[in-house]
Amino acid sequence: MQRRKELPPMVKTVIIKGRIQDGGEHMEQQRIVETPAGVLTYTLKKKKVKNLNLRVDQNGTISLSVPMRCTLDRADRFIQEKSLWLTQAIRRQQERQQPVPPPPDRETCKAILLAGLKRTYPVIAPLGVDFPALKLRAMTSQWGNCHWMQGYITLNTALARCPERLQDYVTLHELVHFLHHDHGPRFYGKMDLLMPDWRQRRQELKGYSAALER
Ligand SMILES: [Zn+2]
Repeated sequence: MQRRKELPPMVKTVIIKGRIQDGGEHMEQQRIVETPAGVLTYTLKKKKVKNLNLRVDQNGTISLSVPMRCTLDRADRFIQEKSLWLTQAIRRQQERQQPVPPPPDRETCKAILLAGLKRTYPVIAPLGVDFPALKLRAMTSQWGNCHWMQGYITLNTALARCPERLQDYVTLHELVHFLHHDHGPRFYGKMDLLMPDWRQRRQELKGYSAALER
């Protein structure tokens, strides 16, 4: 039985951070690969190391250091081979409930989330999305939603109690709805392009469900 042939087709999208070429000098790149355990995003680092070193950090972010000579194909395949172990490790890290700070007063909450919107907006501005109005609401089952017809997004006040990288994820998700209203492949394609590690962040957000309760 040849295991390799059972693996799904490989790289979906590649996001370049810094200079990279196969056989190049130094590189660090975020890569998105389809694996038997689902789509995974990882940071690939080429270094003067002898072996492939795989790591999952506290956020559930995957990094793989490889020797200079290692091809991108080999690196992606390694992620595929380890995908089951990786997804289990990530789930363990991310679903651990995180301590959340007490809810800020309404004014502070608005300031935090508006700052988050301003931080995220430049990512989508070049695609022709107007800066939306922002409404806040305490919700128990949704982190946000997008009223694309009316030109505003609603964010859950609980999001102000979450780390910035998770605020950015929810905000960007709602902003992308101005371009793609449903959760079809084009929506997720845009998320992949604009925030390659959004799946990890979505998973990480589950660790903050305590913020949703009062
Ligand atoms: Zn949505």
